Amino acid sequence: MVESIKTVIVTGSSRGIGRAIAYAFANAGHNVVLNGRKEISEEQLSELSHFGGEIFTCIGDISDPDFASRLIKETKDKFGSVDVLINNAGITRDNLLLRMTEEEFDQTIDINLKGTFYTTKVASKYMLKQKSGCIINLASVVGQVGNAGQANYAASKAGIIGFTKSVARELAPRGITVNAIAPGFVDSDMTDVLSDKVKETILTQIPLKRLGQPEEVAEAALFLSNQKYITGQVINVDGGMVM
Ligand code: NAD
Repeated sequence: MVESIKTVIVTGSSRGIGRAIAYAFANAGHNVVLNGRKEISEEQLSELSHFGGEIFTCIGDISDPDFASRLIKETKDKFGSVDVLINNAGITRDNLLLRMTEEEFDQTIDINLKGTFYTTKVASKYMLKQKSGCIINLASVVGQVGNAGQANYAASKAGIIGFTKSVARELAPRGITVNAIAPGFVDSDMTDVLSDKVKETILTQIPLKRLGQPEEVAEAALFLSNQKYITGQVINVDGGMVM
């Protein structure tokens, strides 16, 4: 049983890391707001319905500022507070710089970085009034060390780290924490597309010699949501890739 039931929004929670985060918070008894660009599966809804908290679904594209605003407002209207916002939705549009189109660059920034800006801006208004709240942004080791073929993605994730640290400073006086999680390479649809050869090369760069599991990232999110004296930090969940 949880000490206090929180309302937790997880963007991009229809699969992968976001789905594991939603599960971890639901399992801890919290109310969870699911989001993705497409419908949430019956299987996922049924999986989450066995825990104590309520599950609410709000489907839409977080790179649309009107939708991002609606996601937060509908959560507030339904549950009365917005306690934890987890900006997890993200995409990759990989290409080498000389071949990268402006569309590939813009789409990645629009969803990964601007989507985070839109939801955080609206959620932080409610959190400021509440004088409490926790924001967790999904960055990446790629935003810390770069990756050939991912200049757009690296820029979006490095942007998230700078955004996290700046917003943490702005919101700290009201007791609101803002942190980032930087996963390394995690077993999900995002990494499924990589060839075996690329995966082999990646494994040579991971001291713990395996990809991470979505549940391991979820554990870090749950941990951060329970901390009151950690803010402006980037927690790496990367098997030791960045030390
Ligand atoms: P995934 O592709 O498996 O899932 C992405 C989720 O985001 C899906 O639910 C999808 O519907 C949602 N989404 C995408 N665009 C959206 C939009 N515009 N609006 C709303 N929802 C949208 O990805 P994942 O591997 O689970 O990654 C989750 C997060 O973790 C991303 O931010 C990603 O950049 C980050 N990350 C992943 C890895 C990895 O190795 N998988 C590593 C580092 C960081």
